[in-house]
Amino acid sequence: MAIRNRQWVLERRPKGQVREDDFRLMETEVPPSRDGEVLVQVRYLSLDPYMRGRMDEARSYAAPQPVGQVMVGGTVGTVLESGNPRFSAGDTVVGMGGWQEYFVTDGAGLTKVDARAVPESAYLGVAGMPGVTAWYGLTRIGQPKAGETVLVSAAAGAVGSVVGQLAKLLGCRAVGIAGGPAKCSHVVKELGFDACVDYKAHGFREALKADTPSGVDVLFENVGGAVLDAALSRMNPFGRVALCGLIAGYDDQGFSLESVRPVLVNRLKVQGFIVSDHMELWPKAIQELAGHVAKGRITWRETVAPGIESAPRAFIGMLRGENLGKQLVKM
Ligand code: NDP
Repeated sequence: MAIRNRQWVLERRPKGQVREDDFRLMETEVPPSRDGEVLVQVRYLSLDPYMRGRMDEARSYAAPQPVGQVMVGGTVGTVLESGNPRFSAGDTVVGMGGWQEYFVTDGAGLTKVDARAVPESAYLGVAGMPGVTAWYGLTRIGQPKAGETVLVSAAAGAVGSVVGQLAKLLGCRAVGIAGGPAKCSHVVKELGFDACVDYKAHGFREALKADTPSGVDVLFENVGGAVLDAALSRMNPFGRVALCGLIAGYDDQGFSLESVRPVLVNRLKVQGFIVSDHMELWPKAIQELAGHVAKGRITWRETVAPGIESAPRAFIGMLRGENLGKQLVKM
């Protein structure tokens, strides 16, 4: 019997903030899989800030999401049928299945994962792309030494939460920046950071100064704008900045800095990076991260939206900061 598939396509490019009607839900039939192909049933879809960038037409490191096509997205799922010798029915697989319930693939970019030691959804978060992003930016660009201070913005999110926990494992002081007292409390009490500063609260800059008494040696930047200006003002000489994301500017393209003076006077090394440029390091990073997870040295949170219908609303919520930890959709 034919399988019905529900898919979200990009209806039109957003103007400013994303709206639910920028997407359209379509119902189609899953095409039969041919020799060499694999039919996957998606169990979790990952919703990530990079998708906002793809919805625009601006030149970037990746091609824009085509209008009328299924939205791009990372997924973890179960193989239902396989005509490909690398996969068998029942395998748990991670891939770029997109915003849909089923997909057929030739297996390129599909990876079999072990869902016994680490729960399958974690392969989209702490033991997946966001975790590798944290690992790469911190260890390869930040290169913190024990005793140094690591500051990370969007600290309660998928990437930021891992950055701070890895920094603690490396013997550093970990300070987060997050929106609101509940998130800050989670970052300190559950994730084990030494401090977390609420950027939405009055007196943010003073609080940041108080919580970074020895300055900042490594800044892992996820936000940009006023948060980045404040963070740069705390940098120590010869500090390193891993420029990972600029989410505060994704809707209105407001990417400007108050001043680049701190970069010069403190002789900072600032490096932007895109985690998919470093695929050769993913297996090593995932092995390390999964090891930390299995041994209980890294913890994580997920915000799980129910059903494919909820994807646009959950995506918009994540961009507004309604998520704690990794934002997922459970099919
Ligand atoms: P998160 O789970 O951190 O979710 C996004 C968070 O961003 C929200 O929860 C919100 O937290 C915060 N945020 C949203 N708008 C603003 C704003 N105007 N000012 C300050 N904070 C804001 O997402 P990820 O962990 O997946 O991604 C974090 C960053 O890392 C993003 O910038 C993303 O683009 C980037 N990234 C980069 C990669 C790379 O290869 N360079 C790969 C993966 C992610 P709060 O409530 O605290 O405001």
